[in-house]
Amino acid sequence: MSPPDTTLTNLLGLQRPALEAFVSELDSKPFRARQLMNWVYKRGEASFERMTDLAKDFRARLAERACVATPEIVSAQQSADGTRKWLLRADASQAFEMVFIPEPDRGTLCISSQVGCALDCSFCSTAQQGFNRNFTTAEIVGQVWLANRELSGWTAQADIAPSESRLSEAASGTGKRIITNVVLMGMGEPLANFRNVVPALEIFLDDFGFDLSRRRVTLSTSGLVPQIYKLAEHSNVALAVSLHAPDDELRNELVPINRKHPIAELLEACWHYIDEQNGRSVTFEYVLLDGVNDSPAQARALARLLVGHPAKVNLIPFNPFPGTRYRRSGPEAVQRFRDELIRRGVLATVRRTRGDDIDAACGQLAGRVVDRTTVRLGSRVFGVAVQA
Ligand code: SAH
Repeated sequence: MSPPDTTLTNLLGLQRPALEAFVSELDSKPFRARQLMNWVYKRGEASFERMTDLAKDFRARLAERACVATPEIVSAQQSADGTRKWLLRADASQAFEMVFIPEPDRGTLCISSQVGCALDCSFCSTAQQGFNRNFTTAEIVGQVWLANRELSGWTAQADIAPSESRLSEAASGTGKRIITNVVLMGMGEPLANFRNVVPALEIFLDDFGFDLSRRRVTLSTSGLVPQIYKLAEHSNVALAVSLHAPDDELRNELVPINRKHPIAELLEACWHYIDEQNGRSVTFEYVLLDGVNDSPAQARALARLLVGHPAKVNLIPFNPFPGTRYRRSGPEAVQRFRDELIRRGVLATVRRTRGDDIDAACGQLAGRVVDRTTVRLGSRVFGVAVQA
């Protein structure tokens, strides 16, 4: 698909009420918005001309004023384990990656919320690139739309009857969804792009949108405490938090936003979120760095923070990238860390590394961030140099 024409309204950026308002502006009944969403999200149709049950003059007005445009695919790769990775281009200068991880019982799409990131976590390769800009709602939604199209083997140009082209069903026609889970765990800090991320979440969950279950859409944050409270008022998706250390001293170093919002405040915000949203638990991501945060004593300290709360821990083996000073913890250290947590009543799993042969694992998603507009958080907000 061609890059968005900025004079047109990209329908992928409009959640249902906004689309209804847009449709009214075009002089059609608001319920047409649902019909339109059905075409766009259930059938993956981008051409108004082919939306045959809409009035001809309405289709003509849509074609004049609107479009369904997504980021462009630069290249695609497939790992030996089935993981797929796409290099996407959002605009003339910015490239970023998207990953799909198939498992027997689900398919998880990992998407991005910003070009680059300003939070400067010391073990993350995105941080090294700095921050360029927020993705728009349409660019966030467009990633899922595009992956759906790619994975269903459906092409926008294909001349097939709409009834055969339902996006959410497997190409084989088994009626099985291909993308069952969406995680905002690619590039960027989603809560630093609250304004554009929340409408995207609405479209993911909307029955007339991607119709995903709220427990299968996960927003991962490095811990922007005020925005976690705000999110509790606006959304009810699953929450993951990048904790990575059991004490403030170490977390200040690994996740510098901790200097502003220390662990105790962060955990309060998490429990509040679960209370408000009738959620099951918060997933705490913990990347295991050899000799840094992987000792049994640190596991015990982590267990003391979380035991008795609606929490589970997802241990992530560190994925190295050029220039990093960290190393991945050995398998025994990982096992020991997990056992310490479980022995103390804290649910813990180890994230299986997927797609590492194509550099698609956590923290490896590259992309090119050019024209950084902001220096990184570490030096900007705190006036200290945080290690690269
Ligand atoms: N900014 C958000 C979203 C990114 S999610 C957040 O921080 O939560 C990506 C997850 O992968 C985060 O938990 C992040 O801390 C982790 N991660 C980053 N770099 C990594 C690396 N090199 N190896 C393993 N995990 C990494």
